[in-house]
Amino acid sequence: MLPVQTVDEHASPGNKTDMTISKTIPCACRQNHLALNFRGGVPIAVVDRVFCPLCRENGFDTGRSFPIQGGWYLHFDLDIARMFAMARLGIDPSLVNPGFILDGRYVEACPNGT
Ligand SMILES: [Zn+2]
Repeated sequence: MLPVQTVDEHASPGNKTDMTISKTIPCACRQNHLALNFRGGVPIAVVDRVFCPLCRENGFDTGRSFPIQGGWYLHFDLDIARMFAMARLGIDPSLVNPGFILDGRYVEACPNGT
């Protein structure tokens, strides 16, 4: 039932400002993994935790997490996101929230085969 899981950490060479890092992160209940792309130099640690569609049934609180495609949820470390926004983007940290991160495609789920 589970798709083939690959831990795929690589960076596109040659373009440092638009570097993409792929990372497969186990969810809180450890029954699934989610592959994410991190763009533009955003630290991987900006995603604090990921929750699969089963995590809630398994007793994990997704209440403060942000829904994305496929019934998954992301929980962001907004302190890290704000530091990144200030240091790398020169953006007012008060503007940084999960919508900013996702709309700016700094973090994006890569659907791994359906
Ligand atoms: Zn889970």
